[in-house]
Amino acid sequence: MGFNTRRRLLLSICLLCLSFASHAWNGAGHRQIAALAWEEMSASSRQKAADLLRQHPDYPRWLKRQQKNAPTAHSDYGVFLEASTWADEMRGDARFYGTKDAPTPRLPGFPDMRRHGDWHYRDAGGGNIDGALKKLASDLAQGNRAAKIYALPWLIHLVGDLHQPLHCGGKNDRGGNGTSVINPARSKHPEMSLHKYWDDLPGPHWQRGKYLEAALTKLRRLPPPAHTEPVGDINRWYAESRELLAKQVYPPRKKISPAFQSHAEKIADLRIRAAGRRLGRWLDKLL
Ligand SMILES: [Zn+2]
Repeated sequence: MGFNTRRRLLLSICLLCLSFASHAWNGAGHRQIAALAWEEMSASSRQKAADLLRQHPDYPRWLKRQQKNAPTAHSDYGVFLEASTWADEMRGDARFYGTKDAPTPRLPGFPDMRRHGDWHYRDAGGGNIDGALKKLASDLAQGNRAAKIYALPWLIHLVGDLHQPLHCGGKNDRGGNGTSVINPARSKHPEMSLHKYWDDLPGPHWQRGKYLEAALTKLRRLPPPAHTEPVGDINRWYAESRELLAKQVYPPRKKISPAFQSHAEKIADLRIRAAGRRLGRWLDKLL
C-alpha cells in the first residue's frame, strides 16, 4: 500500500469514527437526569420501574457497577441510574449490531439486538428520536412484559438526549460533531468537537456517589418546568432544543471564553433539570 493510499484510508477511518462520535450527555448527565426523575416519581412508579429493571438481562451488570461505585445508595435507585447509559453502552457491545453489521443472534430477554444509532437524535441528515420515544412510551404503557423491560432503559436515556440541543440538529455539521472548539478548561486535548463539549458540560463521566450528590444539590436549586405542563410532550422538548440551537449553542469564536463557558453550563443545567422532572412525570403516567 502506497503512502497516499494509506493516508487516504486513515483519513476515511477517522471520518467514519467522527460520524459515529455523537453520544449525547455523558454518563454524569444521564445519571443526573435519572436521579432527578426518581425524586419526582411516586413510590409505586419507583417500585414498578425497579421490578422491570430487575428482570432486564443486564440487571446484574448495573447492580455490580452500582455496588462498586456508590455502595451506600439504595440498589433500586442506583440501578435506575446505571440503566440510563445502557443505550450508549450498546454501541461498543458485540452482542448488538449496527446498520452496517451482520445481525447478531437474539439473546434471551432481548426482543431486539439492533443498536439503533438513529434513535439518539434527529437532524437534517436523519435520526428518529421522536418516533422512537413515541413507540417506547406506548410499549412501556401497553406492551407485553418483554417489551416493557426493553423499553424502560431506552426511554430513560432518550428523554435525556432530546434535551441535549445538538441531538436535535446543528449547522450542517452532524449535530456539532463537525465543528471544533478549543476548551481552555482542558489542559490535555483542549481541541474537541462542539458536540463533545456540550456532552461533557454536566461534569466528569465517572461522577457518582457524593460527587453526583453535590451536582444534584446544585441542580435542585434551579426552577423546573411547571407541573401544569403537558406530560410526555416530545414536540415541545424538541422545539426548545431547536430554539437553543439557533441562538445559544454555538460559541462566537472557536476558543471558548469564560463568559460562554458559564452561559453554556447554565443552559446545560437547566436542560438537565427539565429533563429530570419531565422523565419522572412521564414515567408516573406510563408505568
Ligand atoms: Zn444517546
